[in-house]
This record gives sequence, structure tokens and C-alpha cells, in this order.
Amino acid sequence: MYDYLIVGAGFAGSVLAERLANIAEKKVLIIDKRNHIGGNAYDYYDQAGVLVHKYGPHIFHTNSLEVFTYLSEFTEWRNYQHKVLANVDGQLLPIPINLNTINAMYGTNLNSDQLTTFFGSKSEKKKEVLTSEDVVVSAVGRELYEKFFKGYTRKQWGLDPSELSSSVTARVPTRTNKDDRYFTDTYQSMPLHGYTRMFEKMLDHPNIHIMLNTDYKDVLGEIGYKELIFTGPIDEFFDYRFGKLPYRSLEFKFETHDQEQFQQIGTINYPNDYEFTRITEFKYLTGQKHHKTSVVYEFPKAVGDPYYPIPKPDNAALYKKYHDLASQLQSTHFVGRLATYKYYNMDQVVAQALTVFKKIRNKEILVN
Ligand code: FAD
Ligand code: UDP
Repeated sequence: MYDYLIVGAGFAGSVLAERLANIAEKKVLIIDKRNHIGGNAYDYYDQAGVLVHKYGPHIFHTNSLEVFTYLSEFTEWRNYQHKVLANVDGQLLPIPINLNTINAMYGTNLNSDQLTTFFGSKSEKKKEVLTSEDVVVSAVGRELYEKFFKGYTRKQWGLDPSELSSSVTARVPTRTNKDDRYFTDTYQSMPLHGYTRMFEKMLDHPNIHIMLNTDYKDVLGEIGYKELIFTGPIDEFFDYRFGKLPYRSLEFKFETHDQEQFQQIGTINYPNDYEFTRITEFKYLTGQKHHKTSVVYEFPKAVGDPYYPIPKPDNAALYKKYHDLASQLQSTHFVGRLATYKYYNMDQVVAQALTVFKKIRNKEILVN
């Protein structure tokens, strides 16, 4: 008999398993249908011995001291500030768009004040910034929007930016200084020995049992448990009662090259050419030294494993129906990117899981 059955061994499920076992002394069974723990953050050494991320490049960054301190119990870190270049009109230009991007693109020598004036002259004033198109055209104008965002977004989501909520392209800011880092969070580092090793440490507890290669539906009747934590797609949990929630998928193409370096920076985005969105070379992220190198191309797909919830108003309305249904269940908790249909980064999922744990704990203390 388990206190908790947890479906999904990604960040959401693993953080809760760890907290429940270590702090609340609960007996936990964590199940995943995949053959490994770590969810989408899983990494492994490929045939050449290069550490790669099976589900696309994962770069850890957070402003939360709580999340960073918590994860530091299970890993040491390697400082890494991610940088990205966008291939636009044959030029490799820094993204997020910043002072260097504009000066390189137009052959100018603007300073920050002049760039602010330049953006002001190009930007389209909007009464309300509602869509992913609005965000960009109201900041930098239509030409830069079309070169850097329109094609990439259409490829990535199969939708025009005007159909997507503003939160999607708002993830990528515009800067008037020369800061060309992809993220500006306080803590930016990669787990020194990889994500999988970190997950192994989290789940290494006598009260945590792990069952892989198992869809929870196939074993539900055979397992005794008091409460359920579900981190898979919420629409699947309710047998698609209100219809399917759209999730965007990707296909990953890995290549290993018999050379030390493949490209000049961690990630290169291809907004306007090819069917893939970006190429990432893992050794930049992991810091690994190796005479070969491995890269991954990301090809967006409508069908396949659910990787991205799609932020747009009608999807949010459909999710709300599932959420309302979920709130009526007393002993089932929905946590994580798929179960709460939120375009969350890893740190946000960890924060959400820690919050759910605190709620469970408080409720238990009140009851006893
Ligand atoms: P998941 O990791 O998806 O875990 C859910 C688990 O549930 C899966 O392992 C799944 O197999 C299992 N499951 C589902 N249904 C069932 C079932 N019926 N039975 C049993 N098991 C089931 N975040 C960042 O912070 N930085 C990044 O650079 C970054 N890059 C990303 C790149 C890509 C291509 C993608 C797709 C995501 C990226 N993310 C990044 C987001 C990050 O992957 C997520 O925030 C995080 O992994 C979500 O954790 P989770 O536990 O909610 O979900
Ligand atoms: N985006 C874009 N051009 C870029 C980079 C990002 O249009 O060069 C848009 C695109 O819609 C993308 C979103 O901004 O899906 C968020 O980008 P991010 O790099 O955060 O995506 P993720 O790493 O989550 O796939």
C-alpha cells in the first residue's frame, strides 16, 4: 500500500516524490511510461560518448533562490550563460535583438539612446498587446518582426503569431544594450554531471519505488494508494471528455560529427529557412571536452509526443473546463507542464511542485 502514486518521473513528479518521502516520510510509487526517469529533461551519453539531451536542449535558469537552493541538494553546477545567433539573410545575428544585432544588420554604429529612438520610429503603437505579433511589432516594428519572429513562430507552432497569446514571443525580450545572453536570470547553470544524475539522487530513497515502461492506466487496479499525483496530459486523464487539448510536438534529429566543434555558439536559430527551427551543439551547454561533437535539429510537428501546450485563448478556455473538473477531485493533484497546460520552464515546474507539496503538508497538519 502506497501513500502516493505519482504518474510521471519528470521534474513535477520527481520533486514531489522526493519531498513526500524525505520530509513527510510517505511511501511513494512513481511510474513512467518511458524507460527512464527525468521526463523531458533526461540526458544520456550517446554512442560517441557525448552527453546529449534526448528531448531537445535544456538550459537551466531561474530567478528563484528557493528553487536553486533546493536543486543544489542533488547536484553541483557549472556556470553557463546561453547565447543564440539567428541566421537572417545569410548573416548570423544575436537574438534577443540588441544593440549589436541592429548595428551588425544595418552596418550602423548606434548607441543605446539612438537605438531607443530607432525602435520608437519603427514600432507600431497598439492599444492592447494581446497576441505574439503585437508584442514584437509594438517593440521593434514590422521589418524586424518579419525577419526574426514571423517565420520561426509559424514553423514552431504551425500558427501565425497573430493567433498566439502574447506570452509566447514575450519570452524573447528586446534590448537596447549589448547584452546578448538569451536569459538574464540570476542563476544560470547546468547540472555538473547532467540532469539524469540529478534525478537519480532525488529519487534515491528507500520509500521511493520506481516503475518504468509502465502506463499508469495498465496498472491502476493493481496498486493500492491513498492519493494520486498526475503529471501527464490532463485531457488524457479525463479520456478527452471535452475534446483534445492541442499540444505541439517536435522531432529531434541528432548528428555526431568527427570534429571538435560544429558551430560557433550553443544554438543557431533558422527563422526563415529549412524545416527545422534551430540547431544546438550540446558541448557548449555541458562543457564536455571531447574530440567529437553532437548536435540536435528540432523539427516541429503537429502529432507526436506532447511537448508544448499551445498558448491561445480558445485552448485556455478548453483547459479551464478540465481544470474545473480536476478541482472537484479530492485526492488527485495535477502538477507540471502537461497537467496544468502551462508553457513552463523547468524552474517554474519545480516551484509549482514545491508549492503543491507545501499545500499537501499544511492540509495534513491541519487534519491531524
Ligand atoms: P515532463 O518532463 O513532460 O514529465 C512528464 C512525464 O510523465 C513524462 O516522463 C511522461 O512519460 C510521463 N507520463 C505521461 N503520461 C503518462 C502515463 N499515462 N503513464 C505513465 N507516465 C506518463 N525548460 C527550461 O527551463 N529550459 C530549457 O532550455 C528548456 N528547453 C526545452 C526544450 C524542449 C524541446 C522542450 C520540449 C521543453 C523544454 N523545457 C525547458 C521545458 C521543460 O522540459 C519542462 O518545463 C519540464 O521538463 C516539465 O516537467 P514535467 O515534470 O512537468 O513534465
Ligand atoms: N521566437 C522566434 N524567433 C526566435 C526565437 C524565438 O520567433 O529566434 C519565438 C517563437 O515563437 C518561440 C518563442 O519565441 O516559440 C519562444 O522562444 P524560446 O526560445 O523561449 O522557445 P523554447 O526554447 O521554449 O522552444
